[in-house]
Amino acid sequence: MTIPTIEHKPLLHLENVERHYPNGDSVVRALNGVSLTVWPGEFVAIVGQSGSGKSTLMNLIGCLDQADSGHYRVLDRDVANLDADQLAALRRETFGFVFQRYNLLNTASAAENVEIPASYAGMSKPLRRARALALLEQLGLANRSDHRPMQLSGGQQQRVAIARALMNDPPVILADEPTGALDSQSGRDVMALLEDLHRQGRTILLITHDESVAAHARRIIHIRDGHIVSDSGEQHDGCLAVPPPHREPGTTGLLADLSEAGKSATRSLRVNLFRTALTLLGIIIGVSAVVTMMAVGQGSQKKVMDQMTAMGTNLLLIRPGAPGLREGGDVATLSPDDADALAYLDNVQWVLPERSARLTVRHGNVDYATSVQGVSPNLVQVRDWPVASGDFFNDNDMTRFAPVVVLGQTVANILFPFGEDPLGRHILIRNIPFEVIGVLTAKGASASGTDRDDGVFVPLTTGLVRLFGQNHLNGITVRVFDVDAIEATEQAITELLIQRHQTQDFRVRNMTSILVTAAETQNTFTLMLGIVAAISLIVGGIGVMNIMLVSVTERTREIGIRMATGARRRDILLQFNTEAALVCTLGGVIGVVLGFGLGGLLAWFGMTVVFSPLPALLAFSSAFGTGLLFGFLPARKAALMDPVVALAAE
Ligand code: ADP
Ligand code: MG
Repeated sequence: MTIPTIEHKPLLHLENVERHYPNGDSVVRALNGVSLTVWPGEFVAIVGQSGSGKSTLMNLIGCLDQADSGHYRVLDRDVANLDADQLAALRRETFGFVFQRYNLLNTASAAENVEIPASYAGMSKPLRRARALALLEQLGLANRSDHRPMQLSGGQQQRVAIARALMNDPPVILADEPTGALDSQSGRDVMALLEDLHRQGRTILLITHDESVAAHARRIIHIRDGHIVSDSGEQHDGCLAVPPPHREPGTTGLLADLSEAGKSATRSLRVNLFRTALTLLGIIIGVSAVVTMMAVGQGSQKKVMDQMTAMGTNLLLIRPGAPGLREGGDVATLSPDDADALAYLDNVQWVLPERSARLTVRHGNVDYATSVQGVSPNLVQVRDWPVASGDFFNDNDMTRFAPVVVLGQTVANILFPFGEDPLGRHILIRNIPFEVIGVLTAKGASASGTDRDDGVFVPLTTGLVRLFGQNHLNGITVRVFDVDAIEATEQAITELLIQRHQTQDFRVRNMTSILVTAAETQNTFTLMLGIVAAISLIVGGIGVMNIMLVSVTERTREIGIRMATGARRRDILLQFNTEAALVCTLGGVIGVVLGFGLGGLLAWFGMTVVFSPLPALLAFSSAFGTGLLFGFLPARKAALMDPVVALAAE
């Protein structure tokens, strides 16, 4: 193999570099004016006692950290002028790191660890895998590629780390106490490897506190208290070196990056299965709550609307009391004569005057308080409410003030509990006997939930004279022929009644306007349900943020390792955002499915539910949105982390 000679200029050049750490009120002068030139192909050992500043120097050289003053050039480029991404590119392509504590990702296999730098360099998956396996084989780990770091010995882990450092074929290997944690045999193996790499033309910078380890190097530099105290001399005569690779950065597209991020997100979510499940639960509850509640809300709205429409949009309701007056109290402004007069108006089909009171009815020894309603015989037509047995009273009963009564189903069942036929029997209302001449069909609950079968009907005339002791009405219901002309009829009724009363002491409403009001009430109800559900969704989102913050904190060292191996900020951002998005998507999908399931269950129990795609879509996208939003902050925190600080985390 022929190795091309590189242009004869320094590879690394430090000039009067200082690095000070604030430490309470004082500063630790970790590096105190270090000047150093390293030429391509050199094998340099930097030796010094613990705390002398070796690691600080190494981190500066490897662009994990920046000097406070002085200059540092890599191949004539001043690193002070490089932005975060360019520094990441240098780490990725120029330097390969080997650390004392290996710094492997515990959740990834040996081969996956080795692949990391190449994934950030944009190498395709199959190429990457093949190269990682080849490197592991060269380093004697062919049958260990699927093992996790914990399943490997220290020496093996360090060899995995060396394979990782070689993955992007960098010209410079930076090794910070690579043998420090190893037994002596593994240590000798690692040193032999480094010598091999040097022979192949790579520049090696080795840090050690051990003179015997340093003896492997061609050039030895001693450092003490942040100063270089001795240097055995630069060696740059005719040196051979591996040139920095000329690669197109980022040859993979966003799609490949995304799929990579997706894989690593899945892995980290799987590792913390229980925590992931809890986070998912928050999202699932939020989303399914939105879906179910909206279905219930819309169902209840539909039910009310259907019932009101069934009552007829061809009805006008006239109530006593001036417009704007609060309802309640007994306002004596509508008389039976008003009802008679209305019957002669155009477009009026039926007029139903009504007067009701809550009274006790009795049969045998059963007493029951119910709504006693005095109405005209046309109730049957106006309300579309036929009798189930017997007859409804007629005009004749009206004129002769007949003491007859027609029972609603509920009352019939209560007064005649043993299946006796009520027809022809007498019941007492206010101690006056009334003959039961009919029983109405069951009508069920009204829109407002009251039981419409809980009532009895007597002729209005009889009721006014013998039961209510009043001669005015609670209301008049008018049924029109032509619904399209209902507004004109409403107008005509208003004018006629004003003319008769000399003032507007009544209100006329049509069913359509009542429907609109009901719809508004129902919308408010649905909205309230929606808000409650949305709050739980936000809580779910906060759960995601919480978990992501924990995840970032917990995995600070992983972030550091990824940065040291060349991850750009956007790679880190993408990785954590993908995790959040994945949790939210999964939670959203499960939540929507569960929401539909719960709604279906409620429907099975007889509740009216209406599923529409919009709430599901809305809930899903807000879950996704909150997840991304709340996931973004922790992700950004991770991306902005300082590589050295992140690496130092435990
Ligand atoms: P070595 O690697 O030679 O053992 P270091 O470069 O790690 O030494 O540290 C040099 C000096 O700087 C030490 O006194 C150490 O305590 C100090 N130091 C290193 N990192 C930090 C830091 N992040 N904050 C404060 N002081 C630090
Ligand atoms: Mg150190």
